Amino acid sequence: MPNSILIRGLQKKLTKGGDQYTFPVKLLTVAMVLTLGVMIWMGGNSLYIHYFLTHNIAKDQALAEAADQILYLDTIIIESARGAAATGDDEFDKKYIKATHLEIHSKIDELQDSTLQAAAHSMDDATHQLAIIELKSLEYINKNQIKEAKQLLVDGNFKKFSQMRLDGRRALSEKIREVSHRNLLNLENNIYAALTAVAAVAIFIFVAWYFVFRSIRIWREELEASREREITAKHTAEKANAAKSEFLANMSHELRTPMHSIITFSRQGVERKDRWSADEQAENLTLIHDSGKRLLTLLNDLLDLSKLEAGAMKYTFKPYAIISLVQTALQSLSGLMEDKNLMICVDIDQDTPLIVLDQEKITQVIINLLSNAIKFTPNGKQIHIYVQRDAKDSSYIILCVSDQGVGIPQDELESVFDKFVQSSKTKTGAGGTGLGLAICTEIICAHHGHIWAENNFDGGSSFFIRLPISHP
Ligand code: ADP
Repeated sequence: MPNSILIRGLQKKLTKGGDQYTFPVKLLTVAMVLTLGVMIWMGGNSLYIHYFLTHNIAKDQALAEAADQILYLDTIIIESARGAAATGDDEFDKKYIKATHLEIHSKIDELQDSTLQAAAHSMDDATHQLAIIELKSLEYINKNQIKEAKQLLVDGNFKKFSQMRLDGRRALSEKIREVSHRNLLNLENNIYAALTAVAAVAIFIFVAWYFVFRSIRIWREELEASREREITAKHTAEKANAAKSEFLANMSHELRTPMHSIITFSRQGVERKDRWSADEQAENLTLIHDSGKRLLTLLNDLLDLSKLEAGAMKYTFKPYAIISLVQTALQSLSGLMEDKNLMICVDIDQDTPLIVLDQEKITQVIINLLSNAIKFTPNGKQIHIYVQRDAKDSSYIILCVSDQGVGIPQDELESVFDKFVQSSKTKTGAGGTGLGLAICTEIICAHHGHIWAENNFDGGSSFFIRLPISHP
């Protein structure tokens, strides 16, 4: 069907970059076929009416005109006969009536209808007879035989011919009325046909345009969406690239600093081994040890992240009291907290149940959040840790580490969880690697939980972890 070929062509055009808009082929085909059907029907109707008008109606019209002429001439005859009777001019009357009769006869030949012709002939005969009676009565009047004249006008023949004439006239008038009525009907039909054809064309145009516009709009939206996707993908790639470059710069700095310390302190140790006291040598070795440890942490982070991302990290899920994990984290960071003279407030709901988790990994997450809070909170301020059931769903618990530190710009609350990303407020070029929160996200996802950050009304930020009580 040509319709479907057209639509398939259109459908092809609507396909871009693998995304295909499904064109409502069936609906459009049905609409088109219906509209075309109405148009064909209306066109046929109009053609038929046109044919009828040019042939039948023209014929009818001629017939009605001839009938009308006959009636007119017939009236003339009777009126003339009466005129002649009144004036006594019977010669003029005879000649005039004869001529009119001839005219009527030629008109009767024009009537293309045998019944009508019969009616006209009968009427003409009757008129002729009536005219003769009227002339006859004129003769009586002229001879002053009034009684005989009156007798002629009331006798049976006069009535009979009057009736015949009337019947003939009626038949002809009826035909004229019928023709004009039919003309009127045909005119109405023609207007109706024209209006319906216009309506069908309008519907067809409307339906066609509706689908075309709709398709163009959807196609345009698709195009814009795919353009936006391209732009977003480009931005994401650019951001990832920038983050990677920054990471490389940070990494080389992070690696170089402890490496440099190890090389410098070990060289000094070798060069000054005879001059240094045992304490000085111990101090030197401690510095070398600390730098080595920093290096190891960094390399461990990288290794952890690559393992987590590759899904190669092994988890051991068991039920634990979350308080014990918080205590372990606090113990391992107590030195840092003391150095900054920070106040720690721990608030754990009594009814917090045991939670099925990997103890080592979740402790690592809590340590990471806590060490960030310590890092970005000024001396003497407070850090608040609390654990409670999720008010919206009691099969989850929420752990929060809230600080009074620098906070995070509102539009960076999500991006700080990306690898190598640091907030614009804390970026110094010398600090961490931006891997800690990315590692936390991977671990929490493996627990079917959720991690996010918010800023506090009174300054600082809060990091939340939502964990299911039993591992699904
Ligand atoms: P790192 O701390 O090593 O840079 P993280 O992934 O742990 O890496 O943190 C990413 C970034 O998120 C940090 O560099 C810092 O900009 C921001 N951030 C994390 N925790 C906090 C906090 N408590 N207050 C302010 N900013 C924070």
